[in-house]
Amino acid sequence: MKALALFSGGLDSILAIKTIQDQNIEVEGIYIDLGFEANKKKIDYLLQMAKKLNIKLNIVDKKDEYIKNILFNPVYGYGKNMNPCIDCHAFMIKSAKELLEEKTASFIISGEVIGQRPMSQRKEAMQCVNKLSDKENLVLRPLSAKLLPITTPEIKGWVDREKLLNISGRDRKRQMELAIKYDLEDYESPGGGCLLTDINFAKRLKDYSKNLKLTPNEIDILKVGRHINYKGFKIIISRKAEENPVLKSYQGDIFEKMFPAGFPGPVGLIQKNAPEKVKQKAADFMISYTKFDEGGIIINDESYNSKKIKKEEIKPFII
Ligand code: SF4
Repeated sequence: MKALALFSGGLDSILAIKTIQDQNIEVEGIYIDLGFEANKKKIDYLLQMAKKLNIKLNIVDKKDEYIKNILFNPVYGYGKNMNPCIDCHAFMIKSAKELLEEKTASFIISGEVIGQRPMSQRKEAMQCVNKLSDKENLVLRPLSAKLLPITTPEIKGWVDREKLLNISGRDRKRQMELAIKYDLEDYESPGGGCLLTDINFAKRLKDYSKNLKLTPNEIDILKVGRHINYKGFKIIISRKAEENPVLKSYQGDIFEKMFPAGFPGPVGLIQKNAPEKVKQKAADFMISYTKFDEGGIIINDESYNSKKIKKEEIKPFII
């Protein structure tokens, strides 16, 4: 018997795996990469953790499908920001289910705990997730299983329901006890989280998607820089040296790059279809974030003579 585990690297998903491994069931991990994770080192952390758990981990890139089908059109709406958590969970479950046959696994496990998160982990929300994604009742949530309707793996005797858990609510006490029992350490990924729940990222994403098409190419550039909307055109200027490579390596069709002509400064992007006047203004914005009062800014091989303007004058256009 084999299960596929939706693996986020958090303690709950680790404990769900441990609970099932305790029943001598083989577990293989699935991480659905949607692109909106804040932690740049997440994948390294997941691979390390998978090694400790003695499971194989599959990283499945679902950015394109998620953007096209879920992000802007969720059946169950959004949480506080741009996070369509119910639809997102259902999408992850569906994505994992598509792999069952290939991985010769029989069911899915997930570390969700009833009542732990306001939007997606209420009991009714889990029912909505199931309605969207699990007609066959193949998703087992080992940490809360005893408080939830019986699932196919339990009915068929693939897992022993008696050995599953009945954890609910936001209190992490039981999970901490189990972490001690299993001798788990370093189990939370550092500085991570989903950016769709972040108010500032959500503002940028909303502003961006008013007029522009989002593809996986633009996800990373939404995470960095100052974002400026000038007369409906988007300009992005890096804030620090570490952000320069992200903007420099942009490969999509929507923006073109801006560079200072032969002097040190930030890297920028501007919408390709911006009119000349907007390009000139973008160059003025850009020089304003250098040490120089004037100089050339290159946009698509053309140099724009630009002059520093006061930061207060840029402020109203910053998202
Ligand atoms: S927090 Fe982000 S990744 Fe998690 S379910 Fe919600 S939208 Fe999806």
